[in-house]
Amino acid sequence: MEFALFCTRVNVVILLLALCSPCKFIQSPMEFGPLNNFLQTSSTASVDFGRINFNFPAAVLRPESPKDISLLLSFLSASSSSKVSVAARGAGHSIHGQAQAQDGIVIEMESLPSAIEIHKKKEEEDEDDGVSYADVSGGVLWIELLEETLKQGLAPRSWTDYLYLSIGGTLSNAGISGQTFKHGPQISNVLQLDVVTGKGELVTCSPTKNSELFNAVLGGLGQFGIITRARILLQDAPQKVKWVRAFYNDFQTFMEDQELLVSMADKVDYVEGFLVLNEKSLHSSSIAFSANLDNLLPHLQPSKIHYCIEFAIHDSSSSSSTVEQVVEEISRMLRYMPTQVYSVEVSYFDFLNRVRLEELSLRKRNMWDVPHPWMNMFVPKQGINDFKDLLMESISAQNFEGLILIYPLLRDKWDTNTSALLPESGGSEKMVYVVGVLRSANPTTCSTKCLNEILRSHNHIAQIAGEERIGARQYLPHHPSPAHWRRHFGRRWDRFAARKARFDPLCLLSPGQGIFPRAL
Ligand code: FAD
Repeated sequence: MEFALFCTRVNVVILLLALCSPCKFIQSPMEFGPLNNFLQTSSTASVDFGRINFNFPAAVLRPESPKDISLLLSFLSASSSSKVSVAARGAGHSIHGQAQAQDGIVIEMESLPSAIEIHKKKEEEDEDDGVSYADVSGGVLWIELLEETLKQGLAPRSWTDYLYLSIGGTLSNAGISGQTFKHGPQISNVLQLDVVTGKGELVTCSPTKNSELFNAVLGGLGQFGIITRARILLQDAPQKVKWVRAFYNDFQTFMEDQELLVSMADKVDYVEGFLVLNEKSLHSSSIAFSANLDNLLPHLQPSKIHYCIEFAIHDSSSSSSTVEQVVEEISRMLRYMPTQVYSVEVSYFDFLNRVRLEELSLRKRNMWDVPHPWMNMFVPKQGINDFKDLLMESISAQNFEGLILIYPLLRDKWDTNTSALLPESGGSEKMVYVVGVLRSANPTTCSTKCLNEILRSHNHIAQIAGEERIGARQYLPHHPSPAHWRRHFGRRWDRFAARKARFDPLCLLSPGQGIFPRAL
């Protein structure tokens, strides 16, 4: 085993030297640039946010341009005897080693120049004539894009809750948050991509140009190509946001009110919800609402689970009276526990960057760089009650560390041509729920044994929930074998596999997903 590992590493080094040598001879060391970096190793490339899998690459590439990536993949494609695989690493916020490459090469996408070019629609243009968009490198973080676009009064329309994730990383999954019901996932808000395929070809693609590659890569789990640049749709950014929280003691009413809110997309800009399991988790997820907790806590019955809906309304006007009226009008329609509704007004930036405060607070308590046995599921509406019961059977509310998110998405905002997967729809059902079990394993109270038990329990839940009765599918999926992946994709498997054969026939890319074993 050790010898095999040694051989693999030696092969990588020989291969990289072969790749580098011509350049060494024809260029000075300074010009030699990124290829000098080939033989770097990195401790971060074997670690991700999950802290569950630690796969060590043989080498790390820090590209200075998409051409460096193309050169590497062209070389590997041409060298049929090589077994080396390659993973793009964005911010490394995966849970199960998806951006890792055991004995392979990790490409650190942050090293690409982070130029962000913004095209602002002219005022006289209407929607048919032009749109605002940003051209942005695949390794740029969403927070960086937000900061840059806000300077021009613009912002992307669709978000994730946390912004220190890379453009290429979230577009390889879907990118969802409380705006998804209204604008679709982030992958529904992309106009064009530059991609280096597994064969090393540099291709620009869009819904009308090389559309098969465009659709393959969006939600494609890094399997078909590496996104080096994306054109992201922008809209006018509001100045401020009214952010509202309403509390419930009944799951059915909580769900019905969430569904009512997502039916009002003309008024409401963001809808999410979460389970209130214990006081500690409420405190850590309520930094912006901390002033309201003294009022709220006496209304929560100990040892009972409560539910919180969050919704938000953008305030683009200089007067705040209209947004106040809209909030009041909407709040009157909701059936939360008497008086248990709270609101705060925050800047748009602070609203979108809200999880950063939680991160900083967790870092202070040494609770950020800990294992994160997360489970994210898309659950058809017809199965959500059963799923919630199944989940709660395995959770002790009082000891739970983290957050459980539940909120609805609308299927018609997802393009079924992309590789992203929602569960099959039961008839005309328009809605699907996302359930995010965002758990931290505190090493002082949860040992390796306890962590493994959580992982086992999540696997068990995902397996039962995947059966026909509930019909759920994992988001940010993780499966133990190619056979499980086949089951995950169901009738979409053939298309996914055909795209792989076309764009990455040697199965070089994203080995950490474990979908396609490396072809020899
Ligand atoms: P990485 O972990 O670096 O990579 C993920 C996968 O994408 C790997 O397979 C990798 O090889 C591939 N990849 C990376 N870059 C590229 C590229 N340029 N081209 C092609 N493939 C590439 N997700 C949501 O949808 N909504 C949320 O609200 C949300 N909140 C989160 C909050 C936190 C605190 C964390 C840790 C994660 C959250 N996520 C959320 C999940 C997150 O979107 C995914 O884990 C995403 O992959 C992270 O991006 P990354 O840049 O860290 O990707």
